[in-house]
Amino acid sequence: MAHSPTAPEAETTGPALFESWGRYPTYGGKIVPINWQGDFPRAASGVANGALPVGMGRSYGDVCLLKGGNLLLTTGMDRLLEFDPATGLLTAESGITLAQILDFAVPRGFFLPVTPGTKYVTLGGAIANDIHGKNHHVAGTFGSHVTQFGLMRSDGSYKVCSPTENPEWYAATIGGLGLTGLIPWATLRLRPIVSRMIDYEGIQFHGVDEFLDLTERSKEIEYTVSWVDCVSTGKNFARGVFMQGDHSPVPGELKPSPEPKLVFPFDAPGFALNRYTVSAFNTLFFHKQIKTRVTALQDYEPFFYPLDKVLHWNRLYGRSGLLQFQYAIPWESAREGTIAILGAVAKSGLASFLAVLKAFGDVPSPGMMSFPQPGITLALDFPIKPGVSFPLFERLADMTRDFGGRLYPAKDAAMTAAQFQAFYPQWEQFARYRDPMLTSSFWERVTGDIAKI
Ligand SMILES: Cc1cc2nc3c(=O)[nH]c(=O)nc-3n(C[C@H](O)[C@H](O)[C@H](O)COP(=O)(O)OP(=O)(O)OC[C@H]3O[C@@H](n4cnc5c(N)ncnc54)[C@H](O)[C@@H]3O)c2cc1C
Repeated sequence: MAHSPTAPEAETTGPALFESWGRYPTYGGKIVPINWQGDFPRAASGVANGALPVGMGRSYGDVCLLKGGNLLLTTGMDRLLEFDPATGLLTAESGITLAQILDFAVPRGFFLPVTPGTKYVTLGGAIANDIHGKNHHVAGTFGSHVTQFGLMRSDGSYKVCSPTENPEWYAATIGGLGLTGLIPWATLRLRPIVSRMIDYEGIQFHGVDEFLDLTERSKEIEYTVSWVDCVSTGKNFARGVFMQGDHSPVPGELKPSPEPKLVFPFDAPGFALNRYTVSAFNTLFFHKQIKTRVTALQDYEPFFYPLDKVLHWNRLYGRSGLLQFQYAIPWESAREGTIAILGAVAKSGLASFLAVLKAFGDVPSPGMMSFPQPGITLALDFPIKPGVSFPLFERLADMTRDFGGRLYPAKDAAMTAAQFQAFYPQWEQFARYRDPMLTSSFWERVTGDIAKI
């Protein structure tokens, strides 16, 4: 694949705010749009405090932030380059979003091989965090479906990476947190569909054991995920709704999705989300499913992206933002760890509005630093409350470590350097692949390693 041509001069903008989804931390920084891969070496070189390629800023914490450095915005590099309907192989520039890929692919009878809970992420961001979806137990991570990509370094050198060509760079860059160089383009294997619809089933459960039992029984189902109530205690402790689905085999209309119309209009006041409002929401959500089991034919949009319906829903957490906490604990201690952590959260009084529980499967992740591992993953959102959220987070992170688990950098703004280095002991080996000009506030926080000019 040839390099994209170089634009005459990379356009730069003055100080501006590039926010991550959690809106914490926030740093003014220089946003430098790169519209062609040839812009990258100039935009990344000789910059005080270094540079970092970024996509849609849908990571929750600081993996997509760089205090005092250049944020190289890739969303202008969003061209589709090639598509082969016989194989489903699609090649596109890395700034294209999964929403744009779906608009192209669905009318042609194809779908993403793996999708996160929002479609507003870029192809480059999906690779750099080696994201996972509701089908992890059968399909593995996003990176497993990326057959090749380009990698450009700040010195202008360039290589194609695949499982067989430069395989060590392929492994370092998938889940490589944007630190090994710019991914200018990638090839992704799409999966065929005949309809937009999903055969959905929702099943109420009470407690972690019932969740594990449903997980065991749904191994053959392509998508599974659970909402869990992490406020209630006693007989309602860890009650939830197990949601599962398969692409409908009945041919149906393959039209593109409409644009979302709802926008969350303002920052909610800090008190809007508290133990009482979340508890009321949880009771409503649990009982909304009046029968213990419901089935439905559901469009893929509400099934995969229920939150995308309201743009900027993160404003619900108010100006001070939100902290995400997501662990993966291996099977040996997954049950015990999940009960202990859910118990600690319920006791803390700090309510999590969105709590998502899922079993990861054993398809190996291709990335050296990929987060998923076989076992249970739990993702929680906490409003930032000074003096409360961070101590709780630190305690939960320590519990995760003691149960042999790890936290997800894409969702993190608070793990300590010691915690990170215990979660990812391979980090020093990975650091050998880092581009010397690239760093992030996350990387500096968890390793103390900074860019070298
Ligand atoms: C509502 C919501 C639901 C989510 N659900 C899930 C989920 O189910 N599963 C999951 O795994 N994640 C999930 N996420 C997290 C999200 O999928 C990841 O954080 C994703 O990486 C964000 O992509 P982005 O384009 O916004 O990249 P950014 O957040 O801007 O950047 C992410 C990383 O990618 C790097 N990067 C970006 N572009 C390039 C490039 N071209 N070359 C090299 N490096 C690059 C950046 O340096 C950074 O390290 C969710 C996020 C939200 C907001």
